[in-house]
Amino acid sequence: MHEFLGCTKMIASSELDNLNRGAVSTPSSLNPPTDYDLREFLDLSLNLLCIAGVDGYFKYVNPAWETTLGYSQRELLSRPYLDFVHPNDREATIAEASQIVAGRSTISFENRYLCKDGSFKWLLWWAVAHPERGLIYAAGIDCTDRKREEARLGAQHAVTRVLAEAPTLAKATPRILQAICESLDWSVGSIWRRDPKHSLLRCVELWHSPSTEVKEFDWETRSRTFAQGVGLPGRVWLQAAPVWIEDVTRDSNFPRSPIAAREDLHAAFGFPILLGTEVLGVLEFFSHKIQKPDTRLLEMLSAIGSQIGQFIERMEAEDALRVYARDLESARTRAEQATRAKSEFLANISHEIRTPMNAMIGMTELALGTRLTREQREYLNAIQNSANTLLTLINDLLDFSKIEARKLQLEHVGFNLRDALEDSLRVLAPRAHQKGIELACHINNDVPDALVGDPFRLRQIVVNLVGNAIKFTERGEVVLSVQVGARGSGYVQLRSSVTDTGIGIPADKQSVIFEAFSQADSSTTRRYGGTGLGLAISAQLVELMGGSISVESQPGRGSTFLFTAQFEIQKPGTESLFTPRTLTDLPILIADDNATNRRILQEVLTNWRMRPIAVESGAAALDMLEDSSRTNRPFAIVLLDGHMPDMDGFSVAERIQKDRRYANLKIIMLTSAGLPDDVTRCRGLGISEYVTKPVKQSELFDVIITALDKPSIEKIHASRRRKVPRSERGLQVLIAEDNQVNQLVATRIFEKLGYEVTVVSNGREAVNAVQARRFDLVAMDVQMPDMDGLEATAAIRSWEKMTSSHTLIVAMTAHAMAGDRERCLAAGMDGYVSKPIRIKELQDVIDQLTQSEQSNSRADVIDEVTLLAGIDGNRQILREIVRLFLADYPQRLAEIKQAIRNGDAGGVARASHALKGAVGNFAAQTAVAAAQSMEGIGKNGNLSSAEQALLTLESELALLDARLRKLIMRSSMRKTKKAEG
Ligand code: ADP
Repeated sequence: MHEFLGCTKMIASSELDNLNRGAVSTPSSLNPPTDYDLREFLDLSLNLLCIAGVDGYFKYVNPAWETTLGYSQRELLSRPYLDFVHPNDREATIAEASQIVAGRSTISFENRYLCKDGSFKWLLWWAVAHPERGLIYAAGIDCTDRKREEARLGAQHAVTRVLAEAPTLAKATPRILQAICESLDWSVGSIWRRDPKHSLLRCVELWHSPSTEVKEFDWETRSRTFAQGVGLPGRVWLQAAPVWIEDVTRDSNFPRSPIAAREDLHAAFGFPILLGTEVLGVLEFFSHKIQKPDTRLLEMLSAIGSQIGQFIERMEAEDALRVYARDLESARTRAEQATRAKSEFLANISHEIRTPMNAMIGMTELALGTRLTREQREYLNAIQNSANTLLTLINDLLDFSKIEARKLQLEHVGFNLRDALEDSLRVLAPRAHQKGIELACHINNDVPDALVGDPFRLRQIVVNLVGNAIKFTERGEVVLSVQVGARGSGYVQLRSSVTDTGIGIPADKQSVIFEAFSQADSSTTRRYGGTGLGLAISAQLVELMGGSISVESQPGRGSTFLFTAQFEIQKPGTESLFTPRTLTDLPILIADDNATNRRILQEVLTNWRMRPIAVESGAAALDMLEDSSRTNRPFAIVLLDGHMPDMDGFSVAERIQKDRRYANLKIIMLTSAGLPDDVTRCRGLGISEYVTKPVKQSELFDVIITALDKPSIEKIHASRRRKVPRSERGLQVLIAEDNQVNQLVATRIFEKLGYEVTVVSNGREAVNAVQARRFDLVAMDVQMPDMDGLEATAAIRSWEKMTSSHTLIVAMTAHAMAGDRERCLAAGMDGYVSKPIRIKELQDVIDQLTQSEQSNSRADVIDEVTLLAGIDGNRQILREIVRLFLADYPQRLAEIKQAIRNGDAGGVARASHALKGAVGNFAAQTAVAAAQSMEGIGKNGNLSSAEQALLTLESELALLDARLRKLIMRSSMRKTKKAEG
C-alpha cells in the first residue's frame, strides 16, 4: 500500500478499509479487495485522481495525469501543483482550495492545466478535504472538448449578435474581431477587405486584447497589403477556405513572421468573408501559443464568414441607398430652389416690364389720337396690337410665376356662384355666337349659390377653359356644367366640366398641355394664337382651390375638361327659394334646335315648378301651339331661340303675332350676344322680352315675370325668389373694360362704393347690356377691342333718343392728356376719371354728376326740400321709401294698363288713385298731376283718352324714377364717404 501510493505513510490502512467499505459493496462471502485490486482501479481510471496536501504539493496522482497532461508522475509530485495550473486560473484555484480545506466540498470547479507541450486542458473537479489530516482528495475529468465547443458556439453567437445590432459596417468590424477573440481566447484579430481596383487585400481593422502588447505587429498589419496567395490573408483569399497555421514564426509563407516572433505570436487561423463563392475579405486571428488546428472551429468559421458576407452586402446596399436618397434629396432641394428663384425672378421681371409696357401702350394710344398719315396710323396700330399681345403674355406670366413662387393668395369673399359663372360666359358669348357655336351653362339645382372663395380666380379658370373650347371648336356647342362632388359641414366640393365638340386633343398630348408653355400642336400657335400658359395657370389655381383638373378627349370629336374645387358655403338665410304659387305649373313652350340648351332650359323651368315642353324647331313649335289651341290647353309663354335652321325664332314669332288665337301668348326671344341685329329685330316685331344667350337664370326669371305682367303680389314674391330682387337691388353699375386686372380693380372700387357690378369687356357688349337692362351708371373704358368706349357711348346715346332715357356714363381712361376729356364729353359721356382710378376722385365725379343732373333736370319733378322736410331730413327713411316706391309703382302702372286694355274704367280709377298717393309722397307735382288726370279719366268712365294719358303718365314716372334713383345714389354716397371718413 505504502509503495503503491508512493507518497504517504500518513494514510492508514484502516482509511482504505473505510474507503473500500463505502465505495464497494461486496457479498460477505467474497474477500474484501486488496491493495492490488484498488491499485488496478486507480490505474484504470480515465479520470484524473489525486491527493494533494495543504502544503501545496500533490501527494498522489494516478497514471491518467501522465496521459492527459504529458508530465511524468514524478514531475507532478516534485513541483507545487499551482505550477501546472494556467496562470489565469491560479487565483481562482487557490480560493477554491482554501474553501475546500475550510470544509466545503467541490462538485463543479473548472480550471485549466498546462500540458507539457505548451497547450492546456480544461479540467472539471470533484473534491473533499480532510483538514485534520491536511489532505484534499480530488477527482478531475478532462472537459476540454466541451469547453472548446462552448467557446466556438459563444463566438458564433457573439458575431451573430453584432451583425444583428450594428448599424454600419464600420461599427460592426471591431466588435466582430473582439467577439471572436474573447470567445475563443485568442489575442489579436484583423479584418482585410479586397481592393478590387488593385487586386489586393488591405487591412481595415485590427483588434487585440487589452493585456496584449503587439504594437509593431499592429502597425505592420495595418500598413501592409497582400496579393492573392501571399501570407495568411492571401492564402485564405486564394483557397476561399479557412487556413490554420500552428506557429507563424516557423511558417515559410508568413511575411510578418519576424515581428510575430518578437511579439510572441504563434498560432493563427484565417477564414474568408464569402458572398456565394466570391471572397469579399478575410479575417485572421493570432494566439500567443502554438496551437494545433481545430477542425471544428474552422468548419464553424466558414459559416460565420458567409454570415458576415451577407451582412456586408446588405450594409453596402443600404449605404448605396442612403447615398442615393441623399443625392436625390439634395437634387430635389436644388431643383426646388432653382424653380422658386426662377419664378421669383419672373414675378419681379413681369411686374417691372408692365410699367414701361403701360407707357408704351399709353403713348401709342395718344399718338393714335393725333393727326397722322395713313401709313403712320398703320404702323402705330401694328405697335399697339403687338403691345397688347405682349401685355396679355406678361399678365399670364405674372400670374403663373406668382403661383409658382407661392406668392398668390386666393381671396376669401362671399360670392354668388351662378352670377359668377354666368357672367364669365357672358363675356365669351359674343365670340361663340360669331362662330355660330351654342354656349350653354348647366348648374345642377342642388349646387348652393352663396359661396365663399375667390370668384375672380374661379372666373379666370372658367374663362380660360371655355375660351379654349370656343377657340378650338368650329361647329357644335360648348357646355359648362357644374354639380356637387362632395359636401361636408360648411363646405362643398364642386365638380365642373367644360365640354366642346371641337378638334380634340391626341392622347399623347393630353398630359403635357397642363404644363407651362405647352400646346398640343405647335402649329396651333400660328392658327389659334395663345401662349400655352392658360391651362398651366388654371391647373395651379384649381390646386390652390383644393381640387384637380383633367381632360378627356377624342381627336375630331371634342374635349371635356373636368375640374374640382372646394368652397365654403355661406351661412344659410342668404337665399330664399320661394316660388310663387301662380308660377307653379305655368305652361311654357321652348323651341331651340340645340339639345343641350333645351335640356338646361327644361331643367331650370322645372326647378321653378313650371311646366315646360321643349321642341327642336320652329315648325314643331307651331305644331305644338296648334295642338294646344285645339285641346284648349294654351301655353302662357313661348321661349324662342332666335337662330334655328329652316324657320328661325323671329319667323315663328311673326306667325304667332299674326294668329289671333295666340293673343295671350307671351313671346320671349333667346338672342345671341354679339349679334346686335337680334335686338333690332325683336324691337321691330314688338317683342320687348328677350334674353341673351347663354341664359342667365336670374335674368330669365325676371323676364318671365315681366312677360307675364301679372298682378302685383305675385310679382313681388316672384322677384324675391332671387337673392336680390331687381327693384331692391343696390345701385347698378356697368363696367366696360377689356383688361382683366383693371376689371377687378374697378369692380372692387365700385363694390366698395356700394354698387352691384356687371362687367363687360368691350363697347359692343356695353351697348347690348344697356339696351337689355337699366344701369344707374356706366363706367366706360375708352380703349377697347371691337368697339371702343367713344363709339359705344355714341351708340347708347342714339338709342336713348328713342327711349327718352339717359344713363350716366363716366369715362375711365388712361389718356392723361389735355383734350381727352373734351373728346369723351363730345362723344356723349357725362364725366371722366383717369386711371389708375382713385376712389375719392370717382366719388367726387359721381357726386358732381348727380348734383348737376339734379339742377339740370326740370325743377318740378320733385321738390326735394319739401320731401326732406316731410321726413325730418332723415335720409335713411328717404332711401327706404324710394326703394319701396320703385318696387311698387311698375305694378300699379301695369294694373292701369291692364284695366285700360280690359275697358275697366273702375279699375283704372282705383289703380290711378293708389299710384297718385304713392307719387304724392315725393312732392312730385307733375307726376301727381298725371296720375290724377288718369284717375279722372277712370272716374269719368270714358277711356278714349286713356292711351294718351298713359303715355304722359309713363314718361312722368320714368323721369321720377330716374330722379329718385339719383337721389338715393347721392345719399348712399354720402353714407359711404362718412363711413370711410
Ligand atoms: P393656349 O390656349 O394659350 O395655347 P392653354 O394652356 O390654354 O394655352 O392650352 C394649351 C394647349 O392645349 C392649346 O394650345 C391646345 O393645343 C390645347 N387645348 C386646350 N384646350 C383645348 C380644347 N378645348 N380643344 C382642343 N385643344 C385644346
